[in-house]
Amino acid sequence: MSDSSLRILPLGGLGEIGKNMTVVEYEDRIVVVDVGLRFPTADMLGIDLVLPDFAYLRERVDDIEAIVVTHGHEDHLGALPWVLRELGEEHVPVIYGGNLTMAMARSKLDEHRLTKTPLRTLEPGGDAELGPFSLELVHMTHSIPDSNAVALRTELGTVLITGDYKFDQTPVDGVPADMSRLAELGREGVLLLCGDSTNADRPGFSSSESGVGPRLEEVFSRCQGRIVVTSFASNIHRVQQVVDAAANLGRKVSLVGRSMRKNVNIGKSLGHIEVPDGLLIAPREVENYPDHKLVIISTGSQGEPLSALRRMAHNDHPQVQLRDGDTVVFSATPIPGNERAVNETIDRLYQIGCEVITTMDAPVHASGHGYVEELKLMLNLVQPRYVMPFHGDHKRIRLHAQLAEAVGVDPDDIFKGDNGLPLDIGPRGARFGPIERAGMIFVDGVDIGDPADVALRDRRMLSADGIFIVVATVSEQDGRPVADTEVIFRGVPFLEEADGLADDIRQAVEDSLARAAEEEIHEVDLLQEVLHDDVAKFVYDRLRRRPMVLPVVVEV
Ligand SMILES: [Zn+2]
Ligand SMILES: [Zn+2]
Repeated sequence: MSDSSLRILPLGGLGEIGKNMTVVEYEDRIVVVDVGLRFPTADMLGIDLVLPDFAYLRERVDDIEAIVVTHGHEDHLGALPWVLRELGEEHVPVIYGGNLTMAMARSKLDEHRLTKTPLRTLEPGGDAELGPFSLELVHMTHSIPDSNAVALRTELGTVLITGDYKFDQTPVDGVPADMSRLAELGREGVLLLCGDSTNADRPGFSSSESGVGPRLEEVFSRCQGRIVVTSFASNIHRVQQVVDAAANLGRKVSLVGRSMRKNVNIGKSLGHIEVPDGLLIAPREVENYPDHKLVIISTGSQGEPLSALRRMAHNDHPQVQLRDGDTVVFSATPIPGNERAVNETIDRLYQIGCEVITTMDAPVHASGHGYVEELKLMLNLVQPRYVMPFHGDHKRIRLHAQLAEAVGVDPDDIFKGDNGLPLDIGPRGARFGPIERAGMIFVDGVDIGDPADVALRDRRMLSADGIFIVVATVSEQDGRPVADTEVIFRGVPFLEEADGLADDIRQAVEDSLARAAEEEIHEVDLLQEVLHDDVAKFVYDRLRRRPMVLPVVVEV
């Protein structure tokens, strides 16, 4: 890459929905836009979180001018503590974002005891000079307040990264996306547009967030018993609408779930949500009110294992016991990958005797991401020279590229990218450069590691094929067996097909030990290696499975 070219390197968020992170590079200086995470899929056993592999940044720590965060969702902000910790305190760059986003970042960093990080609130329209870049945030609408597009100006041109957005004409707070600023940027000239592709497969316009409140109130008005509403805790305008509907119907509101209480508190302190005095009651007071006087707002819309709703559904919540006659409203749709957990939660609720209302029953949710016509509107407002669809799986990236073509962008100027694939833009044109390292790293408790991680491989093996433990007792002098070999197995499937397997394994162990003795292998570690290889091969030949084989050699 030459100095005068501009590089846009997505480290996450392309070919997937989640862990958005993009490196923008000019004159060897770097601005990082978003530091997101994603949640593990079912095959990532025991993994808590998935982060983008940011090795590229680790080698370039001294070149980072700043990190800019578009909004407070986990897939844009969630990796921040780990990224900062890995880059090292002495290299911590300044973090920029809107006021709610920075408040959420602060709360997250405090939990990780990263209290020295400089966070700077930047109002939409304000400018910040970051080395060869000048940064401006543009107000957008989305399913969390304070969402911004990021405009990075350089001598070569302007890169506009939309973040997540929809063009909501009647947002709950009355402040629509700043379309006139987007059009102005377009007139000034946008070199590259990187746009949200999440709903590139949905025709028309998304429905307005403010349409959800009246639908919720309709549903509530038909309920006799208690009402539990679950939605994303960060969807503060949704929470506002639930609060308003409850107030209109003379019901008290209780917030259940740590992140729900935390986000409402942050939202209240920054004026993003207004709750009438005396409306809120503590979860422990729930039993003091009659059923028809209560709305509970709960976390757990995604079926998350330790969330309040999941615990209530399993009769395992310390304050709220659900019962026959309660209605649970899912004011959210499952993120792809969470369907199973959500369905399991819903079925538990039916078992308890609750009514369950989802978006299949009533329009109690609105997407935070623009549909096809909104993506076209963005393209037409901004009129970019080049387009690189962001934030979507490969299918949606392709659909978004087709939309760009449909509004008149030259197909040669549309770049269907991938994580790790840098787009290099110079005065003479744009093209993809050689692929850089990108992928995932896993968070397991507080440690981070890569997917080749031994622990994860072991867990997969154990979960699929079980474990064999063979204990061989050998003589210290010549390594020959001096007692019967013990064979223990757990979780090995279809074992009934393998009658006498334990005996045969014992024989295999003895053969293996005999051969080792002939080859004069006496060292315990080496013996265990030989045993492992022989027994694993034997088991595979017999069962066509690869259980974990754990040989233990005891010398006497
Ligand atoms: Zn997102
Ligand atoms: Zn978002």
